[in-house]
Amino acid sequence: MLNPIYTISKIAEILKAETKLVDEQLLIQYLVIDSRSVLVPENSLFFALTSHRNGHEFINDAYQKDIRNFVISDPGYISVHPDCNFIIVQDVLAALQALARYHRSQFNLKTIGITGSNGKTIVKEWLYQLLATDFNIVRSPKSYNSQIGVPLSVWQIDAENDLGIFEAGISAVNEMENIEKIIKPEIGILTTIGEAHAEGFSSRKEKLTEKLKLFKDADLFIYSPEYVTEVNAKDLPGKKQFSWSSKQPADLQIIAIEPIEGNCYLRAIYQNREIECMLPFKDRASIENGMTCWATLLALNYTPEQADLRLEKLSHVSMRLELKNGINQCSVIDDSYSADTSSLAIALDFLNQQNQHPKKTVILSELFETGKVDLDLYTEIADLLAQKKVNRLIGIGTHLAQFADLFNCETQFFNTTNDFIDAFPGLIFNHETILVKGARRFEFGKISKLLTQKIHDTVLEIDLNAMVGNLQFYRSKLASGVKIMAMVKAFSYGSGSFEIANLLQFHKVDYLAVAYADEGIALRKAGITLPIMVMSPEESAFEAIIKHNLEPEIYSVEILKSFLNALSGYDFNYPVHIKIDSGMHRLGFDQSEVETLLDLLKDNDKIKVQSIFSHLVASDVAEHDGFTQSQIDKFKPLANQIAVTLGYKPLFHISNTSGITRWPEAQMDMVRLGIGLYGFDSGLHQNRGLQTVMVLKTTVTQVKHLNAGETVGYSRKGMMKTGGKIATVKIGYADGYSRAFGNGVGKMLINGYLVPTIGSICMDMTMLDITGIEVKAGDEAIVFNKEHTIMQLAQDTNTIPYEILTNISQRVKRVYFYE
Ligand SMILES: *Cc1c(COP(=O)(O)O)cnc(C)c1O
Repeated sequence: MLNPIYTISKIAEILKAETKLVDEQLLIQYLVIDSRSVLVPENSLFFALTSHRNGHEFINDAYQKDIRNFVISDPGYISVHPDCNFIIVQDVLAALQALARYHRSQFNLKTIGITGSNGKTIVKEWLYQLLATDFNIVRSPKSYNSQIGVPLSVWQIDAENDLGIFEAGISAVNEMENIEKIIKPEIGILTTIGEAHAEGFSSRKEKLTEKLKLFKDADLFIYSPEYVTEVNAKDLPGKKQFSWSSKQPADLQIIAIEPIEGNCYLRAIYQNREIECMLPFKDRASIENGMTCWATLLALNYTPEQADLRLEKLSHVSMRLELKNGINQCSVIDDSYSADTSSLAIALDFLNQQNQHPKKTVILSELFETGKVDLDLYTEIADLLAQKKVNRLIGIGTHLAQFADLFNCETQFFNTTNDFIDAFPGLIFNHETILVKGARRFEFGKISKLLTQKIHDTVLEIDLNAMVGNLQFYRSKLASGVKIMAMVKAFSYGSGSFEIANLLQFHKVDYLAVAYADEGIALRKAGITLPIMVMSPEESAFEAIIKHNLEPEIYSVEILKSFLNALSGYDFNYPVHIKIDSGMHRLGFDQSEVETLLDLLKDNDKIKVQSIFSHLVASDVAEHDGFTQSQIDKFKPLANQIAVTLGYKPLFHISNTSGITRWPEAQMDMVRLGIGLYGFDSGLHQNRGLQTVMVLKTTVTQVKHLNAGETVGYSRKGMMKTGGKIATVKIGYADGYSRAFGNGVGKMLINGYLVPTIGSICMDMTMLDITGIEVKAGDEAIVFNKEHTIMQLAQDTNTIPYEILTNISQRVKRVYFYE
């Protein structure tokens, strides 16, 4: 899409706002809400939104990135940047919404608004697939459906569009009214309504009533009566309605749902006759979303035959980018399902966040955007690539090569995906981050397969968005100004290494900490520039520590003396961290050693004490709160005493994850966030508020039928008394699936069923008792996920989540997901 263009003074007029303008005619095309993702700074308007953090704090950052236009509510920033345009409003979010409302009012395209608890994004993407041949569609990017996402979605509308498909999500009462005014949907779709308690509503009815406000002026409302039982039929929105159901009479009454192979065959009664369609999916959620799309096509007056033809071609929607290890030390970002400029911009942003390799490569197919002149489209893409500092472009498709001159980087073009595959052995990919992004029909899945290392079918998936969500959760608990040190020791609690550190660096944590020097060195080599504390700095690694600018924890007089020794050839204030033992009795100075420590520190300008810290041993356990308090009481005077001797104030810190949630008064200057990032906090009831970050999956290799009395595995430990069926899966104790899970103690999820292990766990394999369940070789077995949790695994084997996580061996491939 081509973004709209307004002059800055026109925008001020729309917002009826005060201004301080240096260039009234300046053209605004892009709205920016995050100073880290800026495309074309000259034509961007930055909204200093105040949500998690005060957006005004990022004005400087945006200025550094060449943005000169701002919407602010705090006029204090005007004098700091006299060369900028400022629009001053009461409420920055309200201004963003007002601008979107105005923009929307300039067009009278057909619009579909989608809301519901689940399926909004899939239904939106599928309707796009189903209707793209008939309309020039503008739609919400990804799942932009919030108070901020909806205005940004609507901002994309241009004169060429004749259909808009927008999704709306709300989390509390009184939010939908705003969104309704921005989208103004002519057609409304309600997907599903889930239970109330998960969201900010007191009842399902309240939630439903709020969601339905989106459709208050709609001409047509498409819904399933199963989800609107709390509302009287006469109170349903829409001048006309179209209902679908598989349980009760409806305009589209589904009478049969039959899975066949990977597909699902649906039959229904519609306008007094029997009709049918085939969906190329078999899971429940897809079938439900498919029925919503079926109803929508019929409600839009497509014939049942047309609807069937289109539905059977629906394809899987992946809204996630996958980051994997590639061949020759490359990293591969796999995004081979869609290609349009808005999703390309998002993928390039993610590419740009990767610092681990010196070179950035994009493999891109032709894009198909109806209604846009190719030259404009590819000029926009060339600008995007230049902005994101892409070094190399490999373009695929006969069309793309015609615009080769637009691209100012190393380029290569191929007519087809197969031409690329034929040429692949002669192409060089080495130590680079490669984004693979192509329209579905180019089948770029084949390319990412060539570029990624062979995966041995056991994969640890890490959801980076969930991790960022967890980071924000803890951020919201911190008093203003408190810094965060993120603990990334032991391969970031098993979840990876530089990928996680890189994400945390991007999201502006203040410090990282690792256990050993080599972990820190690996992070430096992967482009991590944050300060890094090393908790067990072995003497033999001092040279390397200094060379890589790592900051050692000083926990004893001996280590301090020998580090000072290592510094003798240098001339600087080297940053170090002093550890106090307040009750853990692991590492650290205790009271009796402080005198000697102070003597060594006094007037010593070789080192600079960055922080003084201690560690709580039971911050999560109420029973030990007295002890925790005594640790805090012991730490503070010692830390103060050291600071007085130093003559300056280092950062003080003592809280780990549960300390943050349970001991707000102990946040001091910094907190050390560990397991909470990965979704666990025993100081919270059932980890409430945290998101599941990791899923461990493996694959069934073989299925066997056993007779009564036969045994399974080594030492004949697994007895099949009455006979039955077993599945062998590709994970064993060498992968970190402990022998303690053997003989029925551990369970895995296969095709929705929880099945127990049988016999002992082998080094590389495990056998599961699948008697009575439909399973075949190649099926997926889930070791843990959101439903079958790591907490459960830890309980089953009498350990803690930390150990389950860090046990997962490096042989198990990590794949990172990012939306
Ligand atoms: C690992 C570690 C932490 C983090 O603890 P969590 O309980 O995972 O938050 C904090 N401080 C030190 C010294 C650690 O070793």
